[in-house]
Amino acid sequence: MIQITNTLTSKKEIFTPLEPGKVKMYVCGPTVYNFIHIGNARPLVFFDVVARYLKFSGFSVTRVMNYTDVDDKIIQKANEEKVSCDTITRKYISEFEEDMRLLKVERPDAQPTVTGHIPEIIKMIETLIAKGSAYVASDGEVFFSVRSFPPYGKLSKKKIDDLLVGARVAPDEKKRDPLDFSLWKPRKNDKEPAWESPWGPGRPGWHIECSAMSIKYLGQTFDIHGGGMDLMHPHHENEIAQSEGATSVPFCNYWVHNNLLTINSEKMSKSLGNIWLTRDFIKRFTGETLKFFLLSGHYRSTLDFSEPQVREHQSALHRIYKTLEKARKLSQTEAHLSQPLTTEGNAADTFGRSFEARWKEAMDDDFNTARVFALVFDYVRLINAFIDKKGFKWTKEAETVLNRFVADMKTLSGVLNLFSEEPTAYLQSLRLLFLTDRGMSEDQIKEAILKRIQARSEKNFALADQIRNDLFANGIELMDKGNETEWDVKFTG
Ligand SMILES: [Zn+2]
Repeated sequence: MIQITNTLTSKKEIFTPLEPGKVKMYVCGPTVYNFIHIGNARPLVFFDVVARYLKFSGFSVTRVMNYTDVDDKIIQKANEEKVSCDTITRKYISEFEEDMRLLKVERPDAQPTVTGHIPEIIKMIETLIAKGSAYVASDGEVFFSVRSFPPYGKLSKKKIDDLLVGARVAPDEKKRDPLDFSLWKPRKNDKEPAWESPWGPGRPGWHIECSAMSIKYLGQTFDIHGGGMDLMHPHHENEIAQSEGATSVPFCNYWVHNNLLTINSEKMSKSLGNIWLTRDFIKRFTGETLKFFLLSGHYRSTLDFSEPQVREHQSALHRIYKTLEKARKLSQTEAHLSQPLTTEGNAADTFGRSFEARWKEAMDDDFNTARVFALVFDYVRLINAFIDKKGFKWTKEAETVLNRFVADMKTLSGVLNLFSEEPTAYLQSLRLLFLTDRGMSEDQIKEAILKRIQARSEKNFALADQIRNDLFANGIELMDKGNETEWDVKFTG
């Protein structure tokens, strides 16, 4: 049984889809005029995990995410760059898809665009006008009449009259009520993209696209609607009003909202100049690190980004992959010796037996990825305590424990699409990024190691120690193994 916190009812509820075994899900997608920032990546990563977990739990899932490809910001950017809107939107749709690939987010089943659905949008607006839920102003702008939909505000728990006080909306003589919002905007000049409509040439307002496209792909009522909390009002509230105003049936049964991302405890904003683009983050820290970080807090909590936080996550990821690497190396040889497990072996064995049931329980409980990671950290710690203990023997019993660990992590990575890289290659890429970030190179380290070997052979232990200490101060740790010296990086401390 999966439980989901439903914003509409403000309760954690047992998830029951409309049609047994099938889930229909819509998530608001990006306005394609720029690269997305790491705050936009949070819903992208989270709702992908939701869809994956639902599939893992046996549901067949249809997921739709739209592209807003008509918008003031797009028009502005196109004018600035003296290109067509189409050039802008095509470029940023493809950049968004590249970010999805780097974050290992699966493609939704449909990614409809506004420009591809103008007839559906016009038809919906016509229905709303016919039902008295919308009206046409003198210049051809069409507004949704918020007063025609008394439950308006039911999602964000706001009353229409309170909204009026809080909104401080500028009076607009074209609107019958200040809260009314635009469904169709007449063309202002010939630089704007426009389509023919019964109200003259123009383009859709922002909110109507999600109503028209979700209904087209998922039906009048569907199961899950997702998005960031910042979209709850007015965007999602308007989606409900338009959809239910047009169809007279419930629009969506479960509304799921992820909380926002802050940067060093501040809101990410252009004016503060603290925007981190997803692409820049990935280049510096890997897509897996971003995904791991974004899922590390419960989706309903705010998540604070800071560089020390990110290094903590890189360090944890490094530890997990190192353990996977060690476990895989051990598993390459078949164990012949049979011998009871050590105390540490027993602890890892006991934990491993319940691991899958426990992480599923955490996911069933409102997709608690934070709890899943806590379980992974415990598992990794127990496995390391077992295999790193002096006198560890590769026995049939140990093989069972280690094979189970590798298999468990593989199953989990099928849901999270994390921890699924080939460990040795991934660890190397983490090391190289670490070095680049600090202006060092692998050759420099190799050279220092050779110097240290030389110093030791000349019995100049003071110099050898100094080389080791200097590297350590730069986050590089040396490990002497027989005649060989290995090195690794330390992300924290
Ligand atoms: Zn939307």
